[in-house]
Amino acid sequence: MQDLDPSTTGLIDPFGRAVTYLRVSVTDRCDLRCVYCMAEDMTFLPKKEILSLEELDRLCGAFIGLGTDKIRLTGGEPLVRKGMMTLVRSLGARIGPGGLRELTVTTNGTQLTKMAEDLYAAGVRRINVSMDTLDPAAFTALTRWGKIEQTLDGIFAAKAAGLAVKINAVALKGVNEHEFDRMVAWCGEHGFDLCLIETMPLGDIGGDRTDQYLPLSLVRSRLRQSWTLEDSDYATGGPARYVTVKETGGRIGFITPMTHNFCESCNRVRLTCTGTLFMCLGQDDAAEFRDLLRDPSVDDAGLAQAIRDAITRKPKGHDFVIDRRHKRPAVARHMSMTGG
Ligand code: SAM
Ligand code: SF4
Repeated sequence: MQDLDPSTTGLIDPFGRAVTYLRVSVTDRCDLRCVYCMAEDMTFLPKKEILSLEELDRLCGAFIGLGTDKIRLTGGEPLVRKGMMTLVRSLGARIGPGGLRELTVTTNGTQLTKMAEDLYAAGVRRINVSMDTLDPAAFTALTRWGKIEQTLDGIFAAKAAGLAVKINAVALKGVNEHEFDRMVAWCGEHGFDLCLIETMPLGDIGGDRTDQYLPLSLVRSRLRQSWTLEDSDYATGGPARYVTVKETGGRIGFITPMTHNFCESCNRVRLTCTGTLFMCLGQDDAAEFRDLLRDPSVDDAGLAQAIRDAITRKPKGHDFVIDRRHKRPAVARHMSMTGG
């Protein structure tokens, strides 16, 4: 079998970090408009700018050939992309020794009643479902028009299909901060992990972010008043730091890009649906792959070399600041573009 030790064949960045985790935003479109993620009147990309599912599959295959062992499909809403299961099945077929260790999906859950069983059958075992609140009215307000029943039905369909579910919730000041105790209890009751995320200054959302930002250090100390949080060395290869809730046995992950810089252990890069590879979520430098994929003179070896070249440009880290004077996003592109 091919030796895929990243130290010999894989992707090592200039700071010695092995890049083994690829997040792929398969579409910039979404059936919801979460207020912290998108403006209400988003303009989406024309189809010709979007990589076909075959092009995405080929590029993912090139990463896997270079030692990538975890791929997360995200978006936009990945499960609204037409024909999406074709890509999931093709990547699922690459799970195994020398290939992927894990294929996962981040979704808003709206399509899961239809798709959860197919995802499991394709080899997906864990999914992240974003749900910031358990309150139906707050859910509709946050997503601008979503119905919580659809997401809840999706979550329970995923559980019934055998998928491990992690609930992602963005912590928003004055919006859902009073709900975290309830969410910890609810997740514990149903066997879901909970992951809390600090809002990041990505993209113009048609509003002011400084009002929304809630440091998770504060959330954590408030949770400690109701729950016994035990430090855990559980890790999923992502940026979350976990604690175990003694009372429920469930886990809570904290993703804290604003209060704690997690860059030193960064193992990931992000590919957009247009074939742009961002070596860092919080920096603008990127490598373009769409033209290479569409150039008949570029073979798989050429593609692999272009990936290696891109990784040599991976920066040391990001420096997000919610700029109180200018109230501008630190990075102009939206999370739905880069993939969360
Ligand atoms: N549509 C899918 C979903 O909502 O799970 C996948 C894409 S979404 C961009 C991925 C994750 O990014 C979600 O958990 C969402 O809450 C999070 N997200 C979006 N905008 C964000 C922001 N500005 N700051 C922090 N997290 C954000
Ligand atoms: Fe859509 Fe996900 Fe962004 Fe919400 S967070 S608007 S569900 S892409």
